[in-house]
Amino acid sequence: MADKVRDIEDIVDKYLKAGKILSQVRSEARDHIKVGASLLGVAEFVEARSIELGADGSAFPCNISLNDEAAHETPVRDDTEVFAKDIIKVDIGVHLDGYIADSAMTIDLSGDHSDLVKASEEGLSAAIDSVRSGVNTADIGAAIEDAITSYDHRPVVNLTGHGLSQYIPHAHPSIPNRRVSNGVELKTGDIIAIEPFATDGVGKVVDGSLTEIFQVISKRPVRLPAARALLKELEPYRTLPFAKRWLKVPKLDFALMQLQKAKVVNSYPVLKEVSGGMVSQAEHTVIVTDDGCEVTTR
Ligand code: MN
Ligand code: MN
Repeated sequence: MADKVRDIEDIVDKYLKAGKILSQVRSEARDHIKVGASLLGVAEFVEARSIELGADGSAFPCNISLNDEAAHETPVRDDTEVFAKDIIKVDIGVHLDGYIADSAMTIDLSGDHSDLVKASEEGLSAAIDSVRSGVNTADIGAAIEDAITSYDHRPVVNLTGHGLSQYIPHAHPSIPNRRVSNGVELKTGDIIAIEPFATDGVGKVVDGSLTEIFQVISKRPVRLPAARALLKELEPYRTLPFAKRWLKVPKLDFALMQLQKAKVVNSYPVLKEVSGGMVSQAEHTVIVTDDGCEVTTR
């Protein structure tokens, strides 16, 4: 029993440390984001700085999604794009021994979408205020929707927060960003990421064409040498998402296609607001406690 308690304390400690590292990286990244700065430079800074500060690695590639892109955009290899007067979502994941901190911020370089930024931030604080052991995820969703609509914006209804577990960045349960009829009850010790998305569009995302983020989803053996070489390179990421620009094997595109065909690797295309609306996002990772929650990524 004492061993088990110690194990749980060790795990919580890793979640908290990962959160602390993320929080520092996020605040340093903010200073790098200005008109004319390179997206790739910011992503590489985030990913390298996490390790410098003691993380075992990124829990997923640094997402930098612009304007009507809600998520899953990350720079390509040798990317030359620079920030303009954009609405920028930076979504960062770091892990220690597979225990994940996941947090996102929105920076408005356009200068005229401060209400949109506030809508998702207020949605997040309302959600955090509502969390305690016994809360139903439906009540969290309602709190988020009310906060966002009070700014005359809409929640993105087909994006949700999620549970976290070791090396699994999207675990059960999902945390809705709107009123739903069937939620689940949270209990003390649950680790969840809450991530409201607000938009001035209709409130729904669809897949875009760019795909740079992938994840190994099964251990099925593959025969083609190029695919086997790629699987070998992917081993350290286990079940954590990775970016194409991180990989070095020859015939990368071919190998990646083969692994997707064999359903060994899944892809995460960029998600865009269907009506072209601007999107903001705010996210924290929290540990549910008896009378509230502890935010690991504040
Ligand atoms: Mn995230
Ligand atoms: Mn998340």
